[in-house]
Amino acid sequence: MEVDVAILGAGPGGSTLAALLARRGCSVALIDRDTFPRDKLCGEFLSYDALPILEQFGIDLHDSPAITRCRVIGRRRKYEFEFPKAARGISRLLLDDVLFRHAISAGAQSFDARTAVAASRNRVQTDREEIAARVVVGAWGRWGRFDQQLDREFVRDRSHRYFGFKRHYVAGSGWRVVDGGLIELYSFDRGYLGVSPIENGGTNICGLVHASRLTGHKGRWDSFVDEIRREERQLDAMYSQYQPSQEGFLSSEPVIFRGKSAVEQGIFMIGDASGIIDPLTGSGMAMAMQSAVLAEPYVISALSAKRDDAEREYRHRHREFFAARIRWSRRVAFLLSRPALLDAALATRPRPAIGEFLLRRTRADQF
Ligand SMILES: Cc1cc2nc3c(=O)[nH]c(=O)nc-3n(C[C@H](O)[C@H](O)[C@H](O)COP(=O)(O)OP(=O)(O)OC[C@H]3O[C@@H](n4cnc5c(N)ncnc54)[C@H](O)[C@@H]3O)c2cc1C
Repeated sequence: MEVDVAILGAGPGGSTLAALLARRGCSVALIDRDTFPRDKLCGEFLSYDALPILEQFGIDLHDSPAITRCRVIGRRRKYEFEFPKAARGISRLLLDDVLFRHAISAGAQSFDARTAVAASRNRVQTDREEIAARVVVGAWGRWGRFDQQLDREFVRDRSHRYFGFKRHYVAGSGWRVVDGGLIELYSFDRGYLGVSPIENGGTNICGLVHASRLTGHKGRWDSFVDEIRREERQLDAMYSQYQPSQEGFLSSEPVIFRGKSAVEQGIFMIGDASGIIDPLTGSGMAMAMQSAVLAEPYVISALSAKRDDAEREYRHRHREFFAARIRWSRRVAFLLSRPALLDAALATRPRPAIGEFLLRRTRADQF
């Protein structure tokens, strides 16, 4: 099996790049261990700066709720601001499936239900076949076996490890249905969670917590959620309005907030594999799609003789485009995961313009 480009991972980043390259006439293998549709841990808030890419693909998200406002909830204080454009609430079950199918209909070849076990700059070995490629792209997300195989530096960092948890809910009968146009962010010690609407009247509650808070819970997310409900009155009031519509919690591989390189041993990285923005910004999926748009011309020039130039220029452009956004996201997350500090900051009665300022710092203008 021989292709121009093998893309390892069919999340929002991998599927976007596969569609773009296939439309340019490249032969593309799009590899994923899952079959679609499939669920995935995520806040499922799709930032408005991702929407032009989907529109360009002709993908219509009008059945997903528009989200126009954000409310930050501390222990004693709240803060609300408007988004400059409407974002969307959409489950990963739906979005990743739509994007994957779009990539295949654009001409990429599907290699789903395959776990990749080895990858180098010109080859991917799956549990079923070997795929030779002129360029290999890593789109395997925030944490994968290849990060260890490639000896990436962030893997050794044990002090910045976080874990995510998510579950879908419906508003209980007779309870207040939370305003569909709103995303709420709740603070708790060493973590935070978001509550946002998704398609079909559902609500997603998804959080992130530092690993140090999970000792004693033995991997039981219901036990951890009970603990934060006991600690934070507002969280308890919020949870009491919902009943789960999914059997259990989904949780994540470790999320490590450290810099990553956009090209590693000749493999072009996109999406979370190339750098992780703090989830509180709700722009990880947008960044994954944007990094695919950014990578496309460099992958194409790597198919020609100019491979070294393409790698160097992509690395540079990626840093220029994303590094500051990632730094800003960590500053805001620092505040949100310290409820007392957040209350003190909100006591200064920040104007809505502060929220808008931070939004601009964590998002791209030109998409
Ligand atoms: C708690 C939390 C909340 C979040 N909330 C939001 C939010 O509200 N909005 C937002 O925009 N972002 C959010 N994010 C971030 C978002 O989930 C990611 O940024 C986004 O999924 C990155 O997309 P990707 O395409 O890079 O990787 P992924 O979506 O992770 O896709 C990677 C794909 O690679 C496949 N794969 C991995 N290893 C292999 C292998 N060995 N063989 C074959 N296939 C493989 C996986 O099956 C997967 O389909 C959140 C993240 C966390 C942790």
